[in-house]
Parts: sequence; C-alpha cells; structure tokens
Amino acid sequence: MALGAGFVRVSTGSQDEASQIKVITADAARRGITIVRWFRLHGYSASHGTQEPALREAIAEIERGDYSTLMVTESSRLDRREDLDAQAEILLAIRAAGGDIISISEPQFGQTDFAGRIVTLAAQYMNAAKSKEVKSNTYRGIMMIRDNKAHHGPLPAFWATKGVRYAKQAWCENPGAVVDIYKRVASNESLAAVGRAYDLYPNSIKNLIRFAPNHTGVIECSYTHEGQTETWAHQVEAVVESALWWRANKVLDANLTESRTNKGGRPVASPANWISGILDCPGCAGKIFLNAGMTPAKDARTGKPRVPKPRTPKLRCGGQGKRRVACGAFKGIDAQPIVDVVSGIFANDTTDILAFQRVAGNAHELDELQAGLRKIQARLSATEDDDELDRLVAERKRIKARIEGFVIVADRYDYAPTGQTVAEMWNAGDDAVKRGMARAVKASWGLALAERDGQWGVSVGTAGEAGSADSMGIVDLGNGLCFRG
Ligand SMILES: [Zn+2]
Repeated sequence: MALGAGFVRVSTGSQDEASQIKVITADAARRGITIVRWFRLHGYSASHGTQEPALREAIAEIERGDYSTLMVTESSRLDRREDLDAQAEILLAIRAAGGDIISISEPQFGQTDFAGRIVTLAAQYMNAAKSKEVKSNTYRGIMMIRDNKAHHGPLPAFWATKGVRYAKQAWCENPGAVVDIYKRVASNESLAAVGRAYDLYPNSIKNLIRFAPNHTGVIECSYTHEGQTETWAHQVEAVVESALWWRANKVLDANLTESRTNKGGRPVASPANWISGILDCPGCAGKIFLNAGMTPAKDARTGKPRVPKPRTPKLRCGGQGKRRVACGAFKGIDAQPIVDVVSGIFANDTTDILAFQRVAGNAHELDELQAGLRKIQARLSATEDDDELDRLVAERKRIKARIEGFVIVADRYDYAPTGQTVAEMWNAGDDAVKRGMARAVKASWGLALAERDGQWGVSVGTAGEAGSADSMGIVDLGNGLCFRG
C-alpha cells in the first residue's frame, strides 16, 4: 500500500479545514493510499511564508522515503498561483525527490503529463512576464507624459490633441462652435436641437458643456498604476468665459432645456387644426371639432368608388366625454370664418409677451464670481510661469475681495417683456402654440361661439357668469409666459 501526506491550507477560523481533510481522506482511500502525515497550514496568505518551510519539509520526507505522494484538494493550496517560478520549483523538487502530487480537483496537475505541465507553466510565466512588461512600459510612457505635463485621457467633441507622442497638447479645434453651443444651452435650447445643429448626440453636447477645462484652461489628467493614482495638470487654452460656462451648466443641473418642458396635449396632424377641441358646442357644451380632410373614396350608400374631394372644413359638435356623438342641436358651421376671427384676435396684437423672470437681485453674480475663483485655483496648480503666477495671485485676491465684499440683493421676480409680441408668437407658432394661445385666451377671457342674426361668430370676454369686469386681465400662456389684455 502506498503512503502519502495530506496538505491543507485554510484561512484562520474557517470550517474549511475539516472538509479538506475529509475530501483528501476519501480520495486517498479510493486510490489505495494511506495518509501518514498531515500538513495543516493556517492563515491563508502564502506571503506569510508559512507554507514554504512545510513544503521543504515534505520534500525532505519524500526523499527519505517516508511517503511518496503529496495530496491536496486543489493546487492553489500548495503554492502561490501568481508566483509561477515558485510553483514550477516546488513541482520539480517533489518530482526530483521521487514523489508525486495529486490535486484532487485537477487530475492533470503534476501527473501524467508533467513535462507538458512545465511547458504550460513556462508559457504562463512568459505571458505573465510579458503583460507585466507591457504594463510597466505603459507606465513609463505615462510618466513621461506626466513629466511633460502633456495630455492623457478622453476629450469631448471639438477637442483634439496635436504634437508628438508623450507630449501631446490638447486644444479646441472649433472654439466658435463651442461658444455657440454654450450660448444655446445657456438660453435653454434643448440638447437634441443643439445636437442636430452640430450633428452630435445630445449626450455629446452634455459632455462638452460639463467639460470644465472649457473655462478653467486646465485639464486634470490622471493615471492609476498598481493602485497608485498619478495626477497632473495639463494646460489648455480656455474657450468660454466662466460666467457662460456656469450659466450653461446651471441649465443642465436644473434640467431646464426645452425638451424637458411640458408641451401638453396630444399631437394633431393637419394644420389649422388648432381650433379643434377649443370651442364649446352651443347645443350641449361638448367640444367642437374641425371636420376637414377628404371625402371617402367609396360611396357610403352604393359602395361604388368615387374620386375623393377635399371637404369644406366644418366645425361640428363632437359630443361629450367618451360618447363622441354629435348632440344634434348644433348642426355644424363653416370653419373658415371662425378660424379667421380667432386668428384676428392674435395676428395683429402688438401686446408684449411677458415672462416671469428676475428683475432684480444679484445672487447669480456671486455664483459667477465663485466660478471665476475656481478657474483661477485650477490654473494656479498648473502654471509654472512666474509672471502668470503673479497675475493669477493678484486676480485671485481681487476676486476674493469682491466675494467678501459682496452684498447680496435679494432676487425679485416679476413679469417683464420677452421682446416678443402676441402677434409674433402667433404668426411664428405652430399648431401647438396656436392651440395653447387660443386655449389660454378662452380660459382667461372667455371665447365662445355666438349666434347673431342667424350668423355664427365668436364672442370674446365671456369668462365668468356674464363676462366679469376683470375678464380682460392677464392671459396665462403657461411656462411662465403671459400677456395682458
Ligand atoms: Zn353638441
């Protein structure tokens, strides 16, 4: 009967030891091996140096002929997997002493194809050494980049690098576009719309806006190697003013771009449809809809094909609620005269559109000053030019003094002209805008179909019971916009 030794290695306090002994004992019995020696190594880490003496001891005992087989549950119990030299050395030493290793979970380990195993080990070693070399070469390259204070890392749209390897300089290829994008975003234009204008994804626009070096002129580069992070400052030419950078980022922070505002309502297909669903039916107080489009391609009665013709647009009762059935009391009228009357209310009205906006207060100026201070602090860490340093320190002092002496005037908001008139908004507006304006006037002033001498027209100013006195007050257009009657 063959004799063997069991080799178990467990982390302190684990229940693993007993289970490893059990597995080894059972496997040894099956192979006809009697375990005459147990090595129990506690404390998992091989780097503690506890296993190396134990293995040397095992090799000596094998040489002496105490036993011939060393059994482990898996080869990782035996060696440091990452130290392939040590692994190969142990395998070879055990074989040289005339012994064998059985790894229960790895039948091939150290066994049938020992030479093959060594070849594999050698290959693994080469691979490990190679990848280590590549890593340290990269690291050396990065350190050269760092020493040159050159650029390393990703850049947003419109930014590129130039120059030789390890000394690349980041620069903005199209400052005009970048400034324009900042301005558009700062004025609440949607990321999607700005993206369309520059053939970029909205996310790329966002990344560009967030890119602080656009105003600081300093890119914080970093590289992490074996847990150590190296950082350095790479100087670039700033593209936008801090105040503009701050305003655009503020818009992103508040999610205030146009695409986020509620446009309301369901999309309506054909133009002039803005009138549809605005007016109330004089017969049943249901909604009046525009009936336009083409006549059917088939005769409803005979089923014969007909040439479709455009209908004369009519305003008809659409009934109430889910029952979309005309009441019958209101027979329907030509739409065009009504459309013309309602359009006329808006199309020539030179009243200013007002927006609820800040009319006093300076807290935003303080924010801008603080953004300017951050820019200087970033540049201070980057510059090595003495004159530049002096200038920056002086500038920093000046801004700090202004911040300290800053007297905050509380923000006051009121309605102030946007520069657009009711007529301009109406004429430039699409269906959704026109519908919104008509609906707003109806809600504020009242807008109703009225019959006079057998002719249907529109009466304005009928809000409330009998058109109250203040019925010609402010029309709230939503989104903080309004106009006064
Ligand atoms: Zn009706």
